[in-house]
Amino acid sequence: MNPLQKTDPEIYDIIVQEKMRQEYRLEMIASENFTSSAVMEAQGSILTNKYAEGYPGHRYYGGCSNVDIIEEIARTRAAKIFGVDHANVQPHSGTQANMAVFFSVMEPGATYLGMDLAHGGHLSMGHPKNFSGKIYRVVPYSVRREDHRIDYDMVRTLAIKHRPRMIIAGASAYPRIIDYSIFGEIAREVDAVLMADVAHIAGLVVTGLHPSPAKDADFVTTTTHKTLRGPRGGIVMCKKKWASVLDSCIFPGMQGGPLMHVIAGKAVALKEAATPQFSEYQFRVVQNAKTLAEELMNYGFKIVSGGTDNHLVLVDLTDKNVNGAQAQEILEAAGITVNKNAIPFDPLPPGKASGIRIGTPAITTRQMGIHEMRIIASWISEAIDNRTNESVIRRIGENVRELCVKFPLYMNGKGGV
Ligand SMILES: *Cc1c(COP(=O)(O)O)cnc(C)c1O
Repeated sequence: MNPLQKTDPEIYDIIVQEKMRQEYRLEMIASENFTSSAVMEAQGSILTNKYAEGYPGHRYYGGCSNVDIIEEIARTRAAKIFGVDHANVQPHSGTQANMAVFFSVMEPGATYLGMDLAHGGHLSMGHPKNFSGKIYRVVPYSVRREDHRIDYDMVRTLAIKHRPRMIIAGASAYPRIIDYSIFGEIAREVDAVLMADVAHIAGLVVTGLHPSPAKDADFVTTTTHKTLRGPRGGIVMCKKKWASVLDSCIFPGMQGGPLMHVIAGKAVALKEAATPQFSEYQFRVVQNAKTLAEELMNYGFKIVSGGTDNHLVLVDLTDKNVNGAQAQEILEAAGITVNKNAIPFDPLPPGKASGIRIGTPAITTRQMGIHEMRIIASWISEAIDNRTNESVIRRIGENVRELCVKFPLYMNGKGGV
């Protein structure tokens, strides 16, 4: 019996259940991934015991010689692969990374431009209950009706009209390339700071599959657990002139002690991200997403923007007589995990939504490829077309399980957590 099983069998059993869920179902939430055993080993290590308020060489506690080296390695690796002057690896999450930029740049009440949440923007870009919507004034920009690409003319018009202190380029549900050079141009025109939030596409950015914002943006923020495939957390980066302001906004501004075990996990993930295998992986993530989009279109699904350039596909269900919430539920019953998602100009409220967002990062980590994408697209179509037929849904669920067995994740015949 291992220590967790002995101390808390209730939690242990649930983790085992969750491991089975991850193992035997298709994880297609676009923001999720399976981090490596090496990352989990670092993250589950004794480093969790250490307090290290401050930064390497300037800590408020003794005994930091080892964690200083770890954090220095992590921030050096981050700055190198993202091509930025300065990196802070302490944000506990992507939202904290964004908050640090807001605090560095703006006084309460200041105006900024961010992607409309209904068009793919993230919570931290102006949701009324989030700090970004409560403390500051957001002016949202959106995508064009014709092609679902970011409306750069609208961004420029709004920037000239509102003179924002900051412009955010980044999204959680945008399947196309983001043009940072246009954003940079507009920001310079109105003397605004440009923040690029690459949370979703970080893995693509560091491998050159998506243009890098490093040249144009004053700040770059990311999560480490999405396409980057590291531990759950955030990183915030900037040009040299902002470095000390930014660091003090993280600590002591908004966080106490850093999570050194997570920072060690970030360091490991950043090392992995610099390997040729990781570039190959990202290439397959995009290839799989493109295949999935094409196949779904062949089955008569409308795809927002007509396809994808990255790791996600936004499916428009308005022609299928089913809403996003229902589709999510049907697919869940068939062993395929996705999330309901608003589509641009969605007539339905976000709780129902007219679309689903499907991502390939996690299933590509378990080595699935083009062949599997074709099969999965056929199951998605079959499940949605036969949503009231329980035996069809059950049979697809069995097929999903068989496919998962062929692409083992953690099990490999092993038990435990
Ligand atoms: C996921 C995401 C974040 C924040 O992530 P959390 O770690 O959940 O706080 C920030 N920005 C964008 C664009 C995201 O997609």
